[in-house]
Amino acid sequence: MIQLPQHITDLTPYKPGQSAAEIRRLYGIDDVAKLASNENPLGSSPKAIAAVQSALQECALYPDGGLALRENLAERFGRNVEEVICHSGSDALIHLTLRTFLDAGDELVSSHGTFIGFQVAAKLHGYSPNYVPQTPDYRFDIPAIAAAITPRTKILYLANVNNPTGTYFSKEEFTWLMERVPETVLVIMDEAYSEYSQALVPDFLDSLQYRYPNMLTLRTFSKVYGLAGLRVGYGIAPSDIIAPMMRAKLPFDPNTLGQIAAIAALEDTEFLERTVALNTNGIQQFTAAFTRLGLKSPHSAGNFVMIDCVTHEKAQNVYMALLQKGFITRPLAGFSLPHCVRISTGTEAQNAGLIRAMESVAPLLVG
Ligand code: PLP
Repeated sequence: MIQLPQHITDLTPYKPGQSAAEIRRLYGIDDVAKLASNENPLGSSPKAIAAVQSALQECALYPDGGLALRENLAERFGRNVEEVICHSGSDALIHLTLRTFLDAGDELVSSHGTFIGFQVAAKLHGYSPNYVPQTPDYRFDIPAIAAAITPRTKILYLANVNNPTGTYFSKEEFTWLMERVPETVLVIMDEAYSEYSQALVPDFLDSLQYRYPNMLTLRTFSKVYGLAGLRVGYGIAPSDIIAPMMRAKLPFDPNTLGQIAAIAALEDTEFLERTVALNTNGIQQFTAAFTRLGLKSPHSAGNFVMIDCVTHEKAQNVYMALLQKGFITRPLAGFSLPHCVRISTGTEAQNAGLIRAMESVAPLLVG
């Protein structure tokens, strides 16, 4: 028998959400809405689909390691190509960052209840980050995060907005924090939902407007661009952060079709605007309905809303009751929030249906 390292033995396998087909079969419901993974309910940009279709014959050739997309993004954001890295989703970029920069004895800091991908990546690399407790209103406790940094801290991971809470920190909180974080700490600003947030919150923090020598901004094509299945994300940072990451990256990622789709999707402003407008309406619909129903739910600046069901049992009951009505949502035990459920926005009809279902499920949360 092959001996496993302890940190691999300790890993819990990732449990993907149930598929719509599985729920149709299990419960005999025709109309199933998957509101579990913060995907784009409009599908993919039509321009991206057309670009992929016409590029299928290129699959025999190795990709260029993301160079064409890096050049495109560098021009778009007014950076040098050496300041941009592309990879197979921003999840892969989180793993790559940890792999590149962490050494034995280094420490990581983040917030409790943050993105599961970071929690899994840290565990996989054998680290137990210091997860600073959230404030009672589910926000990152910025002063406590600053205070948690020690001389051994190497990486500070901040998701803004945070998935799954949907909460965020302001420009003022960000600059206050950055003034206190030593330049020996790499700050990962994970902005997977940035395009949605900019539309939902006036003056929302965009870390790409700032230049810090120790900050890496991560973005993805999985959300607003609707390309989750093609796995493309990017990072922007000073070249002395990007260069070692390029050395540690698998040389050919991201894949050819993903890169071609991403470049085409960047041009599809009509699709982007339609997606953002649909989500802004969806968040407003959910917020109004959940407030009316008296649910404990923080205001979200993402494409999802979290509901605090107070206990794990109630969260499980709400998840199951919604499932039986044809709505797949996300229970959050894996995110260290076992008493919560997350619901992604969908099409207008799906959102209206979810609200109707929630009206009959909400009594489960009383008492
Ligand atoms: N970061 C955050 C905060 C996310 O919510 C997600 C996906 O849910 C990701 C990163 C990973 O996205 P990708 O599909 O680019 O790996």
